Amino acid sequence: MTNNNTVTTFAGLNLAEPLMRAINDSGYTNPTPVQAQAIPLVLKGGDLLAGAQTGTGKTAGFTLPILHLLNAKPAAHPRAGAPRCLILTPTRELAAQVEESVKTYGKYLALRSEVMFGGVNINPQIKALRSQIDILVATPGRLLDHVGQKTLDLSSVEILVLDEADRMLDMGFIRDIRKILALLPKQRQNLLFSATFSEEIKTLADGLLHNPGFVEVARRNTTSELVSQSVHMVAQKLKSHLLSHLIKHNDWKQVLVFTRTKHGANRLAEKLNSDGIPAAAIHGNKSQGARTKALSQFKDGTLPVLVATDIAARGLDIDMLPHVVNFELPNIPEDYVHRIGRTGRAGSNGSAISLVDSEELQHLKNIERLIKTQIPRVTIDSFVPPTHIPADAPRPPRPQQGQKRHTPTKGNRPQGQAAKPRNPAATKPQGAKTPGQAHPPSRSQAKPEPAKYLSEAARHQAMPQPALFSPKPSVRRGK
Ligand code: AMP
Repeated sequence: MTNNNTVTTFAGLNLAEPLMRAINDSGYTNPTPVQAQAIPLVLKGGDLLAGAQTGTGKTAGFTLPILHLLNAKPAAHPRAGAPRCLILTPTRELAAQVEESVKTYGKYLALRSEVMFGGVNINPQIKALRSQIDILVATPGRLLDHVGQKTLDLSSVEILVLDEADRMLDMGFIRDIRKILALLPKQRQNLLFSATFSEEIKTLADGLLHNPGFVEVARRNTTSELVSQSVHMVAQKLKSHLLSHLIKHNDWKQVLVFTRTKHGANRLAEKLNSDGIPAAAIHGNKSQGARTKALSQFKDGTLPVLVATDIAARGLDIDMLPHVVNFELPNIPEDYVHRIGRTGRAGSNGSAISLVDSEELQHLKNIERLIKTQIPRVTIDSFVPPTHIPADAPRPPRPQQGQKRHTPTKGNRPQGQAAKPRNPAATKPQGAKTPGQAHPPSRSQAKPEPAKYLSEAARHQAMPQPALFSPKPSVRRGK
């Protein structure tokens, strides 16, 4: 125990023996801060408001005590298709990962779990709901499909978890969430996890939680020391060439690359493949089958490069990811922290490399202000830009309205971009056609995923707050 009574060993958490065995199998030696704080609160049966993001160990923070509680008190009237615990997540990938954790930690217990999300055939899910289920992990849309088809009964839910609640609101799920809440029994335990706290989240928490316990773990706006960060200044049109070079030259075996748009992700994956580097893109337009396949191949090491948009990559938990590349910088500085949080996790070292065009310098400045660090600029001496410059190279992300364009100084001048451009295409204003640039990307091609806009709006509201949030002295009872 520490002097503020936080349990620092798993033994001190009083979890059931089969859970301790599963924890031991996972190789965890001590609970993470969110686990140490959240597990005792959940075990007491109270509501919980937790400020924690992916990578903190939050999944085990709610999964372990839920398994303990459900195991300790068997269902009074077990029925088919009527889960006792409902865990809602914003994305399919996160739902799958959370359910995998439920199975991992619950492997020595006789509790049943299922995962349900859209984009896949509903029939196997309907079949699964004909049996008794203890824990259901689901995305809101598919859950409501089941309710509509009367294949799911939510009247036995004893514990509700909203995981990554801020993302769910960003993605426009508030209506679905309210519909689902209306279908649940009034008497239940509620756990709400969110990385950030906007007014919307506070309103949701006020209506949902009764005298919640409060847990907040360090916001990861301070980037992990285990991640070595660097910036390569490079003209947008040369980025894919530099990336291929970096992967081949350094013999990288597993790289997660972030692009700003779905179209950009597709195009980059194609380019890498044509350079002989197996790569796949994952984003919202890909079928669930394609996303799952790409992710599992990436995880098992058969696919060295996964190209993803922020939304698709949200919540991905890939152990020991050695390299993250920002092919374009995100225009929301917090997303940089989320992105590079994919590497340097659970004690392993990682590298986060950003390819930055001079048009992106304002984004870089905003990121450096947020993380209070100047990211080292590194030149790759071994990189020789191709003599033939592609005609259809993508444009860098536009600066946001009101932001000044940056004129690169000598030190910040992109690799492959001379002070006086040899090739006008390198610095031509956005949208302008240059000779040889056959088709500037269309509006729809360059459009970020729709949820991004919502996310931006929500985050702007929340941004000036110095801390994540402070617990309300009095939280309304009832809904
Ligand atoms: P999460 O924040 O739930 O996505 O978890 C992030 C990663 O931390 C996952 O890969 C977990 O397997 C790992 N993890 C969870 N709890 C622990 C722990 N107590 N010790 C070490 N790693 C952990």
